[in-house]
Amino acid sequence: MERQIPQLHVFFLPLLAHGHLIPTVDMAKMFADRGVKTTIITTPLNASAFSNTIRRSKESGNDIGVRILKFPAVEVGLPEGFESSDMMFTSQEGIKWELLNKFNQAMFMLQQPFEQLLQECKPDCLVADWFIPWATDAANKYGIPRLVFHGTSFFALCASACMRLYEPHEKVQSGSESFVVPNLPGDIELPISQLPKYSSAQDVETDFFTKLLKAAGEAELKSYGVIVNSFYELEASYVDYYRNVMGKKAWHIGPVSLCNRENIDKTERGNKSAIDEHECLKWLDSKQPDSVLYICFGSLNTFSSAQLKEIAMGLEASELQFIWVVRKQKNDNEDEEWLPEGFEKRTEGKGLIIRGWAPQVLILDHEAIGGFMTHCGWNSTLEGVCAGVPMVTWPERGDQFYNEKLMTQVLKIGVSVGTQKWVEREAIGKAVKETMKGERAEEMRNRARKLAEAAKMAVEKGGSSYSDLDSLIQELNSERKL
Ligand code: UDP
Repeated sequence: MERQIPQLHVFFLPLLAHGHLIPTVDMAKMFADRGVKTTIITTPLNASAFSNTIRRSKESGNDIGVRILKFPAVEVGLPEGFESSDMMFTSQEGIKWELLNKFNQAMFMLQQPFEQLLQECKPDCLVADWFIPWATDAANKYGIPRLVFHGTSFFALCASACMRLYEPHEKVQSGSESFVVPNLPGDIELPISQLPKYSSAQDVETDFFTKLLKAAGEAELKSYGVIVNSFYELEASYVDYYRNVMGKKAWHIGPVSLCNRENIDKTERGNKSAIDEHECLKWLDSKQPDSVLYICFGSLNTFSSAQLKEIAMGLEASELQFIWVVRKQKNDNEDEEWLPEGFEKRTEGKGLIIRGWAPQVLILDHEAIGGFMTHCGWNSTLEGVCAGVPMVTWPERGDQFYNEKLMTQVLKIGVSVGTQKWVEREAIGKAVKETMKGERAEEMRNRARKLAEAAKMAVEKGGSSYSDLDSLIQELNSERKL
């Protein structure tokens, strides 16, 4: 009698931050859509943010589940319920390093309960976030492959590797404002002012964080391979460079956001939306195609009130229609000092401010959206690509600087607001106008539309990402010890 082969079972261990949880949940759904049993391991509050998504995926027949680990926040001196690294980013103080260190300590304490789950469930593979270095040891202990998920582009992975390897920023002539990243295809120019922090160990603000980055880098070398939320046609030279020059084993399976086909999945992706789906769509339906600029700086934005006010002035002067997502909440007892007086009244009907979480993919996918002002977090950048809209790029930290260069210098579908820390209203107004109107905007929009088409094809049957996910699943099946 033929022996029944059990379903392939993949564990997903995301970093506890929206920008990492969201694509991980999408990935787990995509694997489950291909008949793989998937389990996401996370903490109670994070799990509640996507419980409806999991329920819907299950109802569609997928074998997808969640296992919960208690997060030892109190044990490391954090308040009860402090379960997301998003909570360390504030507009007043930027990153709170003390909290981040405690948070990372708590992350390390999850190793033991996580290993108990491995022992109990015996999955065949572990996909874990790059920022969780102990995941490789845990997987090795149980004899299963660990795949690394960075959550960024191939371009950023290649550029940061070249920066670490060749340290060009150490060699620039004094007085020069930019330099070319050595050996990276495309002669990519970086301004010195935008050097990513973690490209240079001396810049890293705390010892604990430096050690974490080092451990994560070492763990990656011992891992089975890398899984990337991207598609071949978007950054082919860099996919090839990563695989063939850097010698990494990598699979691209994105854009993962495209697995959210229904409005409800787009609306409830990652968090509870601060605006009703129908109200939002009604507002957008009343606008002409390509007439609205969508502005959102991700889940961690730390802009000061003064900078937000400057954005408001730039927007108003541009006379464009907009949807603007701000993390600040309305408090009736307090003046909204980040908004110029009378701003909302003057822009009524023309502009919509969403305070809190926006249904980003739902909005971007609407035909009324004609441009996206973004901080170039990789998820947002790719979601903008999928929507086929040109972008106003305004990176804040880390890989966002690289993602910006991919949009502006390589793909030529983005206009930068500039390289200064403080951006004046005039520069904001100029960048948004260039992105939304005129010949250059049209050229960028045409290129962006072609990329959006390519993105959709990549995840359809036979497409580049669809096939890469197929070959990954096949390889994982052949690695199994049955
Ligand atoms: N996002 C959203 N609504 C918001 C803010 C963010 O849906 O109001 C989603 C966005 O679609 C993206 C993710 O949160 O999928 C943010 O990830 P990204 O890599 O762009 O930036 P990060 O927040 O990690 O800086």
